[in-house]
Amino acid sequence: MEKKDRIIKAIRGMNDIMPPESNLWRKVEETAHRIFSTYGYEEIRTPIIESTDLFVRTVGETTAIVEKEMYSFMDKSGEPVSLRPEGTASVIRAYIESGAAVSEPISRYYYKGPMFRYERPQKGRQRQFYQIGLELLGVESPLADVEVISTFVHLLNELEISDVNLEINSVGCNKCRFAYNADLIKFLQKHSEKVCDDCKRRMIKNPMRAFDCKNETCIEILQEGPHIDKYWCEECKRHFDGVKKGLLALNVPFMFNEKIVRGLDYYVRTAFEFTCKKLGSQNAVAAGGRYDGLIKDLGGPDLPGIGYAIGVERLILILENKHGKTLPKKDMVYFAVPDEKAAISVLKIIQTLRKDGIRVEWDFGTKSLKAQMRRADKLKAEAVVIIGSDELARGCAIVRDMRKKTQHEVKVDQLPMHFVSIEDEI
Ligand code: ATP
Ligand code: MG
Repeated sequence: MEKKDRIIKAIRGMNDIMPPESNLWRKVEETAHRIFSTYGYEEIRTPIIESTDLFVRTVGETTAIVEKEMYSFMDKSGEPVSLRPEGTASVIRAYIESGAAVSEPISRYYYKGPMFRYERPQKGRQRQFYQIGLELLGVESPLADVEVISTFVHLLNELEISDVNLEINSVGCNKCRFAYNADLIKFLQKHSEKVCDDCKRRMIKNPMRAFDCKNETCIEILQEGPHIDKYWCEECKRHFDGVKKGLLALNVPFMFNEKIVRGLDYYVRTAFEFTCKKLGSQNAVAAGGRYDGLIKDLGGPDLPGIGYAIGVERLILILENKHGKTLPKKDMVYFAVPDEKAAISVLKIIQTLRKDGIRVEWDFGTKSLKAQMRRADKLKAEAVVIIGSDELARGCAIVRDMRKKTQHEVKVDQLPMHFVSIEDEI
């Protein structure tokens, strides 16, 4: 077979989101928008491609993302660019570049969109996946961490998802990490025979990355390793206590997990994950943390920040486990036109109904009436409006109720009153 005749398929790890599943996606996105707005977060949209350097400098050279997972290439002018593997770096770049870091140092943003990582595709792990993320910039208080975390708890409640656990840790600051890294390196060196090659290499540059390793032996060895909580400085301890107090005040249940380190270098202090057992091995549905220092590292003012990202596919998986793949479709009216001559006049009537928010489908009067009725059945129309030249001459339409199997005549100008608008759908 010639190459051009072959059927072209989507690239491995990149999925189509087709109806009816896309309705569930829209529900999640709209609910997130509604909830986040009540906390004052506004949407930010940044480009999908950025300078490779942006991610190398923020996510970190020794992270799995930068070492192995980025889609990086030279653009036509020879500039090294990458498809974004995550959202925070771009948000911070835009916050600085737009001047907001100076004019609106306290900013609340949320974003949604595709991210790209060259990982092994499996359930809950794609190469193009979607995140909804939220960032609170410019606030140092532990109550900022509490606000950020509670936005996701709120979203889960609104989506009626209950089997998700919050795990939190503090990864300390540069001050605590100095002594900690030294001890961790010593520990890893003691076990250097057994740890994987990645951990051997990272050991020197960034030993905390070992906690991110998915290798079973490394995970087991690290059970015995030093944990950061024993090294927290006074300020880090106080900050973590503040976060815990705030969560308790809001009745947000959480578990302390000293092993949460997160796969990005920029985190300091609070790090957290929301996990769901039902997701299997890819069990983190959202994750994030504090990144004081990142804004300064990217050339902005010395301001703190905190945020998280939701893995939308995983959230959808949880919802599908509960409700199935489809949302009940709201009522639809099908227009059957027995003679094509009437089509232009019917087109105008349909337009009026659609402007009133009524969902209308038709086949432009091009099929036989019988075929149109069969199609209305297939589409599960709530009602069929039959309207041809005779009906038009009398200013009337025949409305057939498809559930009750009854029909009656309705004046054309009274049609909108007959059907329910879909505006309040979902
Ligand atoms: P994981 O440990 O599952 O690889 P991560 O630490 O790489 O997650 P983050 O970079 O913090 O994850 O991204 C936040 C969320 O985005 C994750 O909790 C997860 O829900 C989702 N996510 C990350 N990578 C993928 C992927 N390849 N496919 C689908 N969802 C993903
Ligand atoms: Mg990962």
